[in-house]
Amino acid sequence: MFGVRDTGAAYGWEMTFEQPLPKSLSPSRLADFQSCPRKYQHASIERIPQPASYASAKGRFVHYVFESLFRLSPPERTLERTREFITPAVDAVLTEDVQVDIAMDDAMLARLVAETEEMIATYFEMEDPSTVNQEGVELRLGVTIDDTPLFGILDRLDRDPDGSLVIVDYKTGGLPNRNYDSSTFANAELYAALCQAKLGERPARIRLLYVAQGQAIERDVTDVVVSARTDAAVKAWARINRYYADGEFPATPSSNSCRFCSFKDICRANGVAVPR
Ligand code: SF4
Repeated sequence: MFGVRDTGAAYGWEMTFEQPLPKSLSPSRLADFQSCPRKYQHASIERIPQPASYASAKGRFVHYVFESLFRLSPPERTLERTREFITPAVDAVLTEDVQVDIAMDDAMLARLVAETEEMIATYFEMEDPSTVNQEGVELRLGVTIDDTPLFGILDRLDRDPDGSLVIVDYKTGGLPNRNYDSSTFANAELYAALCQAKLGERPARIRLLYVAQGQAIERDVTDVVVSARTDAAVKAWARINRYYADGEFPATPSSNSCRFCSFKDICRANGVAVPR
């Protein structure tokens, strides 16, 4: 069942994983683990496919467009040139699997293209990309800290006019209810720790660009934040190794963690009390 010798101690029998432990921990996988260790088990160890949703496809679509924009030289970064990346994004992102997952038809494609065009226009009201001095786009950062292998791909790393490094993350969903709660910046703060360890320089701040609403929210990065995020990742990796050796990652169902989880049916079949 799902490539494992069934579930573990909670169900009264032995379980060991046939799949290897992932070689590294990314900020998004850490978020999975922290919201529910069983989600990490299903997604990262058993690698059970998670179907795309319209929102996730749109996110990847828009990220593809912005990545392409920032591959251009600064004077080329115009609204018109950016719009030209929409057609290649259809081929690159909307693969057959994705189209099946989201049941895409002509109307949905038209909606996706229209929403993307709107976000591009809104983005150009937020900043002028020809003046952005980016040090990295889709920057791959891998580093081992305290025996914890961390890896992630950062949307953009800028050098602001005041000389400081800034982590920039595009957001295609809605604004958070409370702009500055800790989970909003959690992923980006771990990226800040990765930058500090890998590049030897701590980013001064994080800038989240909510390109659907035309709003940016920022937070300064401090040594305390970097240290806390690093510490949390190191502790989580130790727990991941322990659960992996035990053969079971506990399920911690809650409305928040289960709401958008694609493993609800599996959990319910295994007796986990997933909220309705
Ligand atoms: S459905 Fe809930 S309990 Fe099950 S893996 Fe997802 S978050 Fe965890």
